[in-house]
Amino acid sequence: MPNATFDSPDLTTFARLDELGLVAVGQRLSAERAVLECRLAEEDPWCRACGARSTSRGTITRRLAHQPFGHRPTTLLVRIRRYRCDHCGNRWREDTTAAAPERAKLSRGGMRWALEALVIDHLTIARIAAGLGVAWHTANDAVLAEGQQLLIDDPARFDAVRVIGVDEHLWRHTRRGDKYVTVIIDLTPARDKTGPARLLDMIPGRSKAAFKAWLKAHPKAWKDRIEVVAMDGFTGYKTAAGEALPGAVAVMDPFHVVRLAGDALERLPTTRPAAAPQAQGPQGRPPLQDSPHPPHRHQAADRPPMPAPQQPVRAREARCGRGDLGDLPGDGRRLPRTRPGESQSEDGEAHHRAEQARPGRLARAGQARPNTDETGSSQMRV
Ligand SMILES: [Zn+2]
Repeated sequence: MPNATFDSPDLTTFARLDELGLVAVGQRLSAERAVLECRLAEEDPWCRACGARSTSRGTITRRLAHQPFGHRPTTLLVRIRRYRCDHCGNRWREDTTAAAPERAKLSRGGMRWALEALVIDHLTIARIAAGLGVAWHTANDAVLAEGQQLLIDDPARFDAVRVIGVDEHLWRHTRRGDKYVTVIIDLTPARDKTGPARLLDMIPGRSKAAFKAWLKAHPKAWKDRIEVVAMDGFTGYKTAAGEALPGAVAVMDPFHVVRLAGDALERLPTTRPAAAPQAQGPQGRPPLQDSPHPPHRHQAADRPPMPAPQQPVRAREARCGRGDLGDLPGDGRRLPRTRPGESQSEDGEAHHRAEQARPGRLARAGQARPNTDETGSSQMRV
C-alpha cells in the first residue's frame, strides 16, 4: 500500500474511550481479561457553588465493563478526581455520565455492544455476559436499559417505517426449554441506503400470535404504509403479515440469505481449521469456553449445527451486509407458498424444520456440498 499512512498507536482511540470522554493512562493485560486505566479527558476543577478554581484531592475508582477487544472482556478502571473548594468548602467529584449512566456497571460502549450482539449477532444473554465479563443479570439489565433508551423513549421511531424485518431470537436457555423473543427491525434506511437498519421492538415469544398482536397494536394508517416485510421464512410470521399487512410484500430477509451463505461456507472443510475456531472470530468476540451455555446445547443430535455464535471472519463480514435489500436477486425475493405439511403448524417447531432444511438447499445452490431435502429446492433461489 504505497499511499498508506499510519498514526502512532493510540489506545484511547482504539478502545473508543474518546467517545466516552475518557483517556487511557494505563493497561493491564492477561490472557483472560484486559483492564484499561482511564481518567476523564478534561479536568473539571471549577467549583459548582462559587466558581473558584480548586485542586484535586485524590481520586476514587469506578469499574465499568466495556466492549471486549481481542477476545478479552475489557474493564475500564476510571479514576475520578475529587475536589474540595478552597474558597467555600464545597465538595464534588468529576462527572462521568458521558462514560456511563449513574450507577451503571457497563460503559455506554459496552451497553451498545451488548444490544448489538443480541439483536444483530444473535448472541444469547449468557454469551454477552461472558463477553463482557459480567453476571448474567448485569448483562440482561444493561440490554433492557439500552433497548429502553433507544426504543421506548423515542416515540417517533415508527414514523418513517416502510420496510420491516421480523425474526426470532433465543433470549435465554432454561431447564424447561429455551425462551425466545421476536425482534422487529426497521429496514427502511437499509433499503433506501440512508443508514443502517434500526431495532424497532422486541416482544416475548416467537409465534404468529405474538407478531400479529404486535401488528394489531399499530394504527391502520401505519400498517398501510408498510411496503415490505422481510422475514426468515417462518410460516407463522408470514401468515401474520399476510393477514395484518395485506398490502405488503413478504420477502426473504437478506440477513438470513447471507447468514445461510456463511453457514454453507463454514461447512467447507477448507474454510474450517481444526483447532481454535474462536481465534478466527471477529474482534470483540468472547472466547467460546467462557459461555456457561455452549451453543449446541439446545440442538437435537440429528440436526445439522445451527449457526454458531462464533463464525469465521468471512462469514461475519458477509453478514455485515444485512438489511441491504439490493443484494437480493430480484427473482428470489418472494417467500415460498406454504407447504401443506407446514400450514397447520405455526409454532416454532415448523420454523425449526424450515431452518433445518434451508442450509442444505443453499449449500447445494452454492456448490458447497451435496445435500438432501429435494423438496425444499423451490423454496429459495439464491
Ligand atoms: Zn467554592
